Amino acid sequence: MIKSAYIHIPFCYKICSYCDFCKMFYNKELVDKYLKELSNEITDSYNNEVLDTIYIGGGTPSSLSIKQLDKLFNITNKLKLNDNYEFTIECNFDSITPEKLDLFKKNKVNRISFGLESINKNKLKILDRTASKSKIKKTIEYCHKIGLNNINIDLIYAVKDESLEDLLSDIDFIKSLDITHISTYSLILEEHTKLYIEGYKYINEDLDREMYDLICNELKEYDHYEISNFAKGKEYRSIHNQTYWHNNEYYGFGLSSSGYLGQVRYEKTRSINKYLNHDYIKEDGIEYLSTKDKIYYEIILNLRTKEGINLKEFNNKYHQELKDVYDYESLINKGLLVLDGNNLYIPENLWYISNSIIVRLLEGEKNG
Ligand code: SF4
Repeated sequence: MIKSAYIHIPFCYKICSYCDFCKMFYNKELVDKYLKELSNEITDSYNNEVLDTIYIGGGTPSSLSIKQLDKLFNITNKLKLNDNYEFTIECNFDSITPEKLDLFKKNKVNRISFGLESINKNKLKILDRTASKSKIKKTIEYCHKIGLNNINIDLIYAVKDESLEDLLSDIDFIKSLDITHISTYSLILEEHTKLYIEGYKYINEDLDREMYDLICNELKEYDHYEISNFAKGKEYRSIHNQTYWHNNEYYGFGLSSSGYLGQVRYEKTRSINKYLNHDYIKEDGIEYLSTKDKIYYEIILNLRTKEGINLKEFNNKYHQELKDVYDYESLINKGLLVLDGNNLYIPENLWYISNSIIVRLLEGEKNG
């Protein structure tokens, strides 16, 4: 049953050096055409489900003009939402204005996710980004003034030449803001990004580990509910992102978006020309899922979270016991997994090596 929809807005005023998202420079005419096609796509695919969450990501959705945002909300207003919905929009502090925030509020947005990444001059220079502390503070104040109180901030760390002190001052600044959620990302580059092409040198792995530990320590009072995500309390966990980690179905609308419906995971094209010609699905962008594939996704996604895999829910979903499919007992005996009631999870102190634990679990497939 689909409960969530992701909508991609691939336009930005500036392109950051590390960015691997599907994005292009803002161009008024192109945005207008894009919104028209987005409306067609959603009208064609949406089956009137009542949704729990909408997430507008990018790109930079806040780069759109007021008129264009108005058009975008005319589209999202066609999606039905339940009473306890979460409606998030990603914003950039450079392009957000009080008028845009008012418009968000008027159109049911109740969660804002700001890409801040850092306030450190050297980091910002490497990332090709800017940040103004006073604009950030004023924007957050204005969000509160109009009742947009559920706010996430993204933080990037492990940037070349960054010290633990640099990271600490970024964390301190973010903590000083009245926000409810922090998402953190260790900088990893895809091959076609500007930084990668320029021969960027990563920081060493020990320092990366120390940085992750520093973040976990400094954000101890937050609910560390997923490897990289921290909420001020359980009620501020991102409901939309939990859809992904719980391996539940969702729509993906817009250029390069991905979705999961029934027996299929799909990915939309990254070509704007194809998209505007209603040729939405990427070549090789459809993955047909067997039960075994679904279980595979269930494991790798669930184990990113604090509660891990709920064995009872697993059994309800797949009509089999996880222990009959994968040998997790041996990993429990080695202290790499914990079973508490129905929850099988990776203990927080081992999250840094969670990928290798998941690989070991998958290698223990019975009859595999
Ligand atoms: S990181 Fe965000 S703002 Fe920067 S280019 Fe990528 S999508 Fe645009």
